[in-house]
Amino acid sequence: MDTASENCSVKVAVHVRPLIGDERAQGCKECVAVTHGNPQVQIGTHSFTFDHVYGNGGSPSSAMFGECVAPLVDGLFQGYNATVLAYGQTGSGKTYTMGTGLREGFQTGLIPQVMNALFNKIETLRHQMEFQLHVSFIEILKEEVRDLLDSVSVSKSVTANGHAGKVSISGRPPIQIRESSNGVITLAGSTEVAVNTLQEMAACLEQGSLSRATGSTNMNNQSSRSHAIFTITLEQMRKLHSVSPDNGTPDEDMDEEYFCAKLHLVDLAGSERAKRTGSDGLRLKEGIHINRGLLALGNVISALGDEKKRREGVHVPYRDSKLTRLLQDSLGGNSKTVMIACISPADINAEESLNTLKYANRARNIQNKPVVNRDLISSDMQKLRQQLKYLQAELCARAGGAPSDEVQVLKGRIAWLEATNEDLCQELHEYRSRRAVVEHCGTDAQEGPVSFVKSDGLKRGFQSIDSSDYQMDEAVSDGNSSEIEEVAKEWEHALWQNTMDKELNELNKRLEQKESEMKLFGDIDTEALRHHFGKKIMELEEEKRIVQQERDRLLAEIENLAANSDGHTQKMQDGHTLKLKALEAQILELKKKQESQVELLKQKHKSDEAAKRLQAEIQSIKAQKVQLQNKIKQEAEQFRQWKASREKELLKLKKEGRKNEFERHKLEALNQRQKMVLQRKTEEAAIATKRLKELLEARKSSARENSVNSTGYTTPTGQSNEKSLQKWLEHELEVSANVHEVRFKYEKQSQVQAALADELTILKQVDQLSLNGHSPQRGKNGHSRLSSLSPNARMERIASLENMLNMSSKALVEMASQLSEAEERERALVGRGRWNHLRFMGDAKNLLQYMFNVAAETRFQLWEKDTEIKEIKEQLNDLVALLKQSEAQRKELVKQQRMREQAVTIALASSASVRFSAQHFMFTWLLILHTAPVHPVLTISWHEEI
Ligand code: ADP
Ligand code: MG
Repeated sequence: MDTASENCSVKVAVHVRPLIGDERAQGCKECVAVTHGNPQVQIGTHSFTFDHVYGNGGSPSSAMFGECVAPLVDGLFQGYNATVLAYGQTGSGKTYTMGTGLREGFQTGLIPQVMNALFNKIETLRHQMEFQLHVSFIEILKEEVRDLLDSVSVSKSVTANGHAGKVSISGRPPIQIRESSNGVITLAGSTEVAVNTLQEMAACLEQGSLSRATGSTNMNNQSSRSHAIFTITLEQMRKLHSVSPDNGTPDEDMDEEYFCAKLHLVDLAGSERAKRTGSDGLRLKEGIHINRGLLALGNVISALGDEKKRREGVHVPYRDSKLTRLLQDSLGGNSKTVMIACISPADINAEESLNTLKYANRARNIQNKPVVNRDLISSDMQKLRQQLKYLQAELCARAGGAPSDEVQVLKGRIAWLEATNEDLCQELHEYRSRRAVVEHCGTDAQEGPVSFVKSDGLKRGFQSIDSSDYQMDEAVSDGNSSEIEEVAKEWEHALWQNTMDKELNELNKRLEQKESEMKLFGDIDTEALRHHFGKKIMELEEEKRIVQQERDRLLAEIENLAANSDGHTQKMQDGHTLKLKALEAQILELKKKQESQVELLKQKHKSDEAAKRLQAEIQSIKAQKVQLQNKIKQEAEQFRQWKASREKELLKLKKEGRKNEFERHKLEALNQRQKMVLQRKTEEAAIATKRLKELLEARKSSARENSVNSTGYTTPTGQSNEKSLQKWLEHELEVSANVHEVRFKYEKQSQVQAALADELTILKQVDQLSLNGHSPQRGKNGHSRLSSLSPNARMERIASLENMLNMSSKALVEMASQLSEAEERERALVGRGRWNHLRFMGDAKNLLQYMFNVAAETRFQLWEKDTEIKEIKEQLNDLVALLKQSEAQRKELVKQQRMREQAVTIALASSASVRFSAQHFMFTWLLILHTAPVHPVLTISWHEEI
């Protein structure tokens, strides 16, 4: 059955995951490029082709199951064994891809999808055949096989009793790997759980994942250092209905066909070298053990992958580890195998990613010989089926591929357009806000101090600009808003003063009026008037009395005369009567006069009262005026104080501005310096890397020469051979030293990069905070310097950091590439490989002697250097002591200086309150002269103050 069509090489797919949070936080750049439309991956100058590439610009990860694993599930039903291997460094996404993690990938992972497909298919075939499914889940940790489902059976019985809970692993005998007589590998002593439903199988996966041993390493604290193998065994009993030729009814004695196939789903341990995990002690030991499994896997792969070796029938070291032993069927055996190489796109993982890709690339060359357990189908039929399957797969790939490509392109376009749109919007906003500022300033300048309403509106306008969510130069908006505030305040003050003045004027006017009114009263001497009137009335009274007396007398006389009644008397009587009449009239007159006088007196009284009221009013107005004046005074004082504090603030701000300017200059210098250093370092690294590349290439060609030499029968025992061997050894040593140098630089560079990225992250956070209107928390995480940077300086620093990160990233990838190359060579040379071409004892002895000389020489040089270092250290110690001393002196001086400054401040403050006290001046001067003999800044400010 070993026809060519049955041979199929291991299919290798690459899964590139996106950058994850940690890597983003470290400022990693992507260094993996996927060729569009081709399953090609590129890192630096290295390019690889695989069967499929998923993620990061390749096919979508969701297509992986359909393209890589679904055919294997179908194959299971035809009796083909299958294996899916997830390979890659820790944190590259193996567990995620397989779906053996507890939280992630349980829906999208391959195993859950396998289970779905399996049960769907069983459902459609159930009426044609009988099925039996078993699952086992084991893990290989430190070269020991652990049964992950052991607890399942126990927990089942426990839950049956109604006591759910955690179950400890029972003390069963260790699981052993056995090979049956027909070469089938079995695990003796592992739990095989019979499952009937999808839910039962999923429960097994979950339970096993839970009990899987995990440990934390540098790369990924959830990752595992163990290989986990989830195995599904499918047994089928197919009834073959042989139709009897005579009656055409199905024969009751049916043939039965039995198939049994296994699907291994393997989540391998992290492929990184032990030293990269940064763990020691026990961890390192585990690391080495894991490496043993993966190392053996690598050797198996390379033995199987080398066409020549395979033809020569070179021994494949399956037995070197439990892993390879268990996977013997899957690699170069009776299995269809898919390897999924998981890689991270981050530059810091470039070396490991390259190693993974090289490893996976070798695996592509492995030829498997999958066979169906029962061979009833003719080979032609099988050929046709195979073809059909291929065609179907291709069709599937084509159908899925074309539109998704288009969508990808369109998506890219949309993203680009959106980004451009955003940029333009931002620009527009910026211009708008700037225009608004200019306009506002313009109108204000024209109109001068206006009403409150106006200034309020202005303020609000600026606030709305401030609080708007688009970015605006912070410094500008800040300065403006405070300026506006100031102007508004001044207007407010002016306006207030104005209204107050007006009020005061009004009061004054009223007062004047009242006072003039009062004056009208004030001109008349009321007492004299009263006196005058009184006298007048008395006089009138007197006159009246006299007139009445006269009248009485006249009346009496008339009576007398009437009694005497003579002619003369008649005449006299008449005269008297006339007189009397005149007198009567006079009395009447007097009476009238008197009445009018009384009336006048009354009026006088009234006007007196009015005057009194007026007086009171004047008093109250005067009081109001005093109050108002006080208020004005108070306000003026407040304003003066505010103005003074404002000026002080302004002065401070100016000072701060100068400080900021200074900081900015310092930062710029720092940026420049750091960039230069980085540039120098990367250049040095580039030179070392280039040298390593040259050495490696030179060795490749010399190795070829040597191999030619050694296969031929030339026995050049003479001088020339000795020389060439020595040259070769020198070369080897130089390569080794160079690898060390590059690795050292690589590590240093990664540290630098991490530090740069750290700073960048913080700066971006601060930026974000200030964009959202929060003031950055000063001194948080000890990064006060970073959070106190002005926005402009921050932007500059961010740009500079990004620039440096880019530079560093490129250098890292380049170094990683050469290191991976060197490691590859080293791997090939380990063991006998290095000395393969040493055929003669004489050569070996000569070389050994040469090596001895080199070693002795090196030791001596080392000793010399040690001595030198010791001397230099002593010098350094002296210098450090000196430095400490001068630092102490400096501190003392700074302390003195501070004291002086304090004294000056106190002096200035008191001089301000007793400004014109010459005595005080003298005192202060003396104080200053005494404490600060020469201090230009102080004396200048002093003059200004004066
Ligand atoms: P490994 O098993 O190789 O150590 P994990 O599967 O645990 O790696 O993945 C490491 C981290 O990367 C996890 O947090 C996981 O969520 C994330 N991750 C891996 N692959 C992807 C992917 N294709 N898409 C998104 N995140 C992924
Ligand atoms: Mg994992």
